[in-house]
Amino acid sequence: MTAPTDQDLPPLNATPPGLYRHHKGGWYEVIETVRCSETLQGMTVYRALYGQGLAHGGLWVRRSAMFHETARFDGREQPRFARHDPANVRLADLPTVHALIAHLRQLARLRGLDLDTSLRPPPPEPTTCCGRGCNGCVWDGFYEALHRWRTDALALV
Ligand code: SF4
Repeated sequence: MTAPTDQDLPPLNATPPGLYRHHKGGWYEVIETVRCSETLQGMTVYRALYGQGLAHGGLWVRRSAMFHETARFDGREQPRFARHDPANVRLADLPTVHALIAHLRQLARLRGLDLDTSLRPPPPEPTTCCGRGCNGCVWDGFYEALHRWRTDALALV
């Protein structure tokens, strides 16, 4: 059997690298599109930005056609994965914060930078909370500081 030439190969249907959110809410980072040696189909390689993925595990692969699919999920037509601009992701919950920080660190790594030494560290998560509702919520300050850190990180990556 002869090896396939480029002309024999089906379209790769490449997924642009970047930040994505699964329709169930989980954050992911697309790394690359590769070709399956058995079926010759394009396969999207992506990393979960939670759990093991935050420590550079959590790698997944699925057919790129399926990655791009729009279908009826949770009772409405929507993409399986939606791409998000890290500059505009709304910062209002910790899973999103953790995903954004991991993604920006990876973007810096791809440019040969260590974000944690090139820039001040991301603001620490609050450990105090009055528990009664109060003026000057610690979380408001945290998200404002994180917003400024993101702006500075994006200027580097
Ligand atoms: S307002 Fe903020 S600091 Fe105060 S109880 Fe609510 S979450 Fe905690």
